[in-house]
Amino acid sequence: MVRAIVGANWGDEGKGKITDMLAKESDIIIRFQGGSNAGHTIINHYGKFALHLLPSGVFYEHTTSIIGNGVALNIPYLMKELDSLVERGVPKPRILVSDRAQLLMPYHVLFDTYEEARLAGKSFGSTKSGIAPFYSDKYAKIGIQVSELFDEDVIKEKISRICETKNVLLEHLYHKPLLVPEELLETCHQYRDMIAPYVCDVSAYLHEALKEGKTILLEGQLGSLKDTDHGIYPMVTSSSTLAAYGAIGAGIPPYEIKDIITVVKAYSSAVGAGEFVSEIFGDEADELRRRGGDGGEFGATTGRPRRMGWFDAVATRYGCRIQGATEVAFTVLDVLGYLDEIPVCIGYEIDGQVTRDFPATVKLKKAKPVYTVLPGWKCDIRGIKSYEELPENCRKYIEFVEKEIGVPITMVSNGPGRDDIIMR
Ligand code: GDP
Repeated sequence: MVRAIVGANWGDEGKGKITDMLAKESDIIIRFQGGSNAGHTIINHYGKFALHLLPSGVFYEHTTSIIGNGVALNIPYLMKELDSLVERGVPKPRILVSDRAQLLMPYHVLFDTYEEARLAGKSFGSTKSGIAPFYSDKYAKIGIQVSELFDEDVIKEKISRICETKNVLLEHLYHKPLLVPEELLETCHQYRDMIAPYVCDVSAYLHEALKEGKTILLEGQLGSLKDTDHGIYPMVTSSSTLAAYGAIGAGIPPYEIKDIITVVKAYSSAVGAGEFVSEIFGDEADELRRRGGDGGEFGATTGRPRRMGWFDAVATRYGCRIQGATEVAFTVLDVLGYLDEIPVCIGYEIDGQVTRDFPATVKLKKAKPVYTVLPGWKCDIRGIKSYEELPENCRKYIEFVEKEIGVPITMVSNGPGRDDIIMR
């Protein structure tokens, strides 16, 4: 059985926590897209961790954690993350890396940095982890597959091709030092030796695992609104954040994905630039940011303050639809306990017309939020274990959101810890 855990919003919905929780009953957890550009925060009995590349299932001894072919694989970063877990007392996780995953190279990070600097005020707000240059190279067919590291002739030929095109840009567009083929080859040799123990034909492995009835989790990064195709293009990430892509980025049949748990945040937050209709500013935003998440809403990778906003039913309904959500995990609800009244965005006003449909970016730029206001519950709901014990106004908020998005909310998360969860 395959389950996907994905985000309906801009990311940072709390997917890491839900994955860590559900990994307990799973055999295999797979990252299928993205790279080390976003983080998942996980709090369990080993401590507090910010994982970037490893799947959030690495804290259990019975699980196998997989980096699928769809991921941007930064090998030294992966090694560092593995070491840092072991240093903090986590048993060394079982890791497999797809032989078809491609390498995020140091020059991808450089190109990302150079391009952001070149665009200056018009930049995409990249985390400068090399993700956009990585995926561009993958589709331009000058990416390096893990499997290629093990064939000296293939890798030499690939490197000389890469240097030919990259060096033109480095010299004439960015005026930066050129790539040296011998140095790149040496880097590839080092990467080969680091990754060799983990390399696996992942889709064949998963084919067998599915035959044996194993439970598999696909862990998404970021959320629907950052999807390259269906998100707020061009302020999107460079890989698909959708559950459907899990089939491709892991190498399994699409019909095996039976359950799409879509994680929805009780308010909105976003990192980086891009359309965000229900964004709030000033003291109102500062207070929500300070109280939000676990110890404030600051990016797990960059430490940047997240942009804050009220719950956006238009964006979230769309985000759930495009994921194909079968159920919703509603998170960080505890954070809203301080508010007398809670605005919820239920429509967008565009050119004088109110719509409930999330439009493409050009129209989205003109959208103004239409709010309805719900009463707050004015208490701390952390520690509550059953739905009935939640304050009435809190249940009303949940049920209002559920009706707006049209997907059953089966889990309510009322704290950052593994056990802070209410099953409905
Ligand atoms: P992810 O990328 O979707 O895994 O999300 P992040 O880990 O970047 O952000 C979620 C943040 O919210 C983290 O700091 C979590 O520890 C925290 N978190 C998750 N669920 C809850 C919750 O129900 N309540 C509170 N207060 N914090 C939560």
